[in-house]
Amino acid sequence: MSGEKKKKTIKTIKIDVDKCNGCRACEVVCSSIHAAPKHSSNNPARARIRIIREPLSDIYVPVYAGDYTPAECAGRDKYTIDGKEYDECAFCRASCPSREEFKEPDSGLPLKCDMCEGEEEPQCVKVCLADALVLEEREEEVEEEVEQEELEIGLESLAKKHGVQKVKDALARMSESKKS
Ligand code: SF4
Ligand code: SF4
Repeated sequence: MSGEKKKKTIKTIKIDVDKCNGCRACEVVCSSIHAAPKHSSNNPARARIRIIREPLSDIYVPVYAGDYTPAECAGRDKYTIDGKEYDECAFCRASCPSREEFKEPDSGLPLKCDMCEGEEEPQCVKVCLADALVLEEREEEVEEEVEQEELEIGLESLAKKHGVQKVKDALARMSESKKS
């Protein structure tokens, strides 16, 4: 099925792992900007960016939240960095049933980076004094229908798992934090 094409600006955050010093300012500001009302609290457990930390080896890896996935994948590879073994899941961006990252602590609903919609720039990029996070933008042509379909499928699977009311409450909280 082919729908009407439209230009869309795709924003991504380029991460330079070597520059990250593990200060976690990005986690704090992300949770604060998404609190309702905005800036009323900061709890890194609610952040849409998490730092995988291994302070003794001076390893810090920022990972920002990607899409919700209703089922866990089959990937179980291991990564060895400076002699320490990491599970593949550690660096995954998905909010997935097999782990706790990128879920709202109270409701369990998935969290996804929205590039700080409504702000002038992504706030994690702004507060990262080490320049480990850099905003990148590119233009892409996307099909409108596909976009809409993906949104509907995502909402449907969330409602199935968490119930319609929980999803509605979370959407209301999200729009509240954008207004304030
Ligand atoms: S603000 Fe920058 S340096 Fe600090 S933890 Fe986040 S990515 Fe790393
Ligand atoms: S761009 Fe905004 S929403 Fe995304 S991780 Fe950074 S602070 Fe959080």
